[in-house]
Amino acid sequence: MNILETDSARLLTAVRTLLEQKGIVSTAEVMERMATTDAANPGQGGRMVAKAWVDPAYRALLLSDGTKAAEALGIMMRGMPPLGVLENTPEVHNLVVCTLCSCYPRAVLGYPPFWYKSASFRARAVRDPRELLASEWKTVIPDAVKVRVVDSTADYRWMVLPVRPAGTEGWDEARLARIVREGDMIGVTVPGI
Ligand code: FE
Repeated sequence: MNILETDSARLLTAVRTLLEQKGIVSTAEVMERMATTDAANPGQGGRMVAKAWVDPAYRALLLSDGTKAAEALGIMMRGMPPLGVLENTPEVHNLVVCTLCSCYPRAVLGYPPFWYKSASFRARAVRDPRELLASEWKTVIPDAVKVRVVDSTADYRWMVLPVRPAGTEGWDEARLARIVREGDMIGVTVPGI
């Protein structure tokens, strides 16, 4: 045994070997999932948001079944937790957090930013989301707008459909997709032009 190998690496190898021996998951399936996760990026979520902004039927699908809406754009969702999409409106602003650990809509946004996993972000998002957004992201949510904090879990992942910014009338999907940032889709920022 390699003495430089960490306990967690040994545990991982042992679990993977057992899963394979018992016929539960193959190495090929593990590799496929890793490749899918590595390829995921916020551009995928951005395409979904842009399409929802211009296509009412797609918007309805996105808000009723995020998984199906992602698949409709060719995004691989097989084996991923269900995806829910929360609509920001002039009355409600949604903020996504995983209070327990780091659950994130990886299938459509890729790996979470480092701060998403921090105890500080997780605690402050619950304790005082307005203060967190204003001090860390300069995202000031007016008092008249309700802030809703939504907990992402291992069983259900959340993404935000932001409000389409004023001044983008007549823009096509590709141009709209370029202004959607990762933070807009979890509610730490709002898109602007
Ligand atoms: Fe988590």
